[in-house]
Amino acid sequence: MRAYRAALLRFDDEGRPVYDPDGLLVVGPSPGASGAPGPRSATTASGVRVVRAAGAWSDLKDRFPGVVVEHLPGRLIAPGFIDLHVHYPQTDVIGSPAEGLLPWLENYTFPHESRFSDAAYAGQVATFFLGELQRHGVTTALTFATSHPASVDALLGLAQGRGLRLIAGKVLQDRHSPDGVRDETEQSLLDTEALIQRWHGQGRLGYAITPRFAPSCSDAQMQGAGELAARYPDVWIQSHVAENRDEIAWVRELYPDARSYLAVYEKFGLLRERAIYAHCIHFDDADRALMQATGAVAAVSPTSNLFLGSGFFDYAAADRQGMRYGLASDVGGGTSFSPFHTMLAAYYVGREGHTKAGLSLAPSHLWWQHTAGAAQALGLSGVVGNLQPGCEADFVVLNPQATPLLARRSAQAGNLEELLFSLIVLGDDRAVQAVHLAGGAGLDPAA
Ligand SMILES: [Zn+2]
Repeated sequence: MRAYRAALLRFDDEGRPVYDPDGLLVVGPSPGASGAPGPRSATTASGVRVVRAAGAWSDLKDRFPGVVVEHLPGRLIAPGFIDLHVHYPQTDVIGSPAEGLLPWLENYTFPHESRFSDAAYAGQVATFFLGELQRHGVTTALTFATSHPASVDALLGLAQGRGLRLIAGKVLQDRHSPDGVRDETEQSLLDTEALIQRWHGQGRLGYAITPRFAPSCSDAQMQGAGELAARYPDVWIQSHVAENRDEIAWVRELYPDARSYLAVYEKFGLLRERAIYAHCIHFDDADRALMQATGAVAAVSPTSNLFLGSGFFDYAAADRQGMRYGLASDVGGGTSFSPFHTMLAAYYVGREGHTKAGLSLAPSHLWWQHTAGAAQALGLSGVVGNLQPGCEADFVVLNPQATPLLARRSAQAGNLEELLFSLIVLGDDRAVQAVHLAGGAGLDPAA
């Protein structure tokens, strides 16, 4: 076991922050793994370090005699961030200008993704991508690969070596897609099932059934995806919905009888728990209620939505209907891997009050959306995204003195919300001093 003494942030079951200005985090092998008694989540991966205790240093210091304590004065320990929607093959597409979503896909994304049939190329991009996630303090991600099965094997094989908790899927797109990325209906479903069996539940890894979006998938492919989703209920589903008005008009042409874009996914059995839909911007209350009723969750992608000019996620309406959500970078439509940049953009999106009701999201609520709230969205509450006892020990050590302005501003923070907001507004990768992975063998000095 090993312990860390610093300011400590975690969340209670209602999403409220729990903060110890002088806290202690004790991590070690899971009690189940070592044979000792203690609670152990059914979905916690075996062989990983977990949080054994978390709280005020003064309360805990005598309970763990002999445990080495690393003292980190002036630092904040917080849960590793969770990115609910990102495209690893688009790492090199970030910052590509275009006239909105559909031209951006056609001119940049599809040509680039066609290169991922080459496993060596996929591996090279995956290595860089995983390094970026870790450097920015992201310890769990739900990511699109490309339509090539090799792109999934490359990414998940490398993630396994690092001990990252990663969920990924082969993109399904058998129509309205150019040569090089378009797949073949029957083979795409066989490939998906083979990948589920190869990767899902291997250590910390998971698989996500990944229809790109309704316009890119034939009815037969959507039907097959829905059948797989029913056959493998703990496998995730990831897709896009209601991002852009041109996209929505296209869906209406393709499915004139559907009540809405979201209803197309419902028709094919693709709305359920563990189904994560990026964007969910141009929804009505019936769509939001359908998300709530089915347990599907929105991956709010604010830097992407601002970059592509897609629109503004309506937080007040989501809350009113009980629709769940969490935060995502959506790189390469998104402009940053940094959770700080994403949280700040989410604040801008919340404030926007011309197309919907504007509000000020509390800094701790922004943070929750990228940690414990995102874990809840994935059905992984109590596993990742938090630092309560039993959680897998993915955490970041943040330095509020990382830059002159951040140091000056954070020193004047009078409470937790002000401290978190100074990091959200002024922080970036320079504030991430260390990233600890529960499953990391060799990267984590606590191993
Ligand atoms: Zn996306």
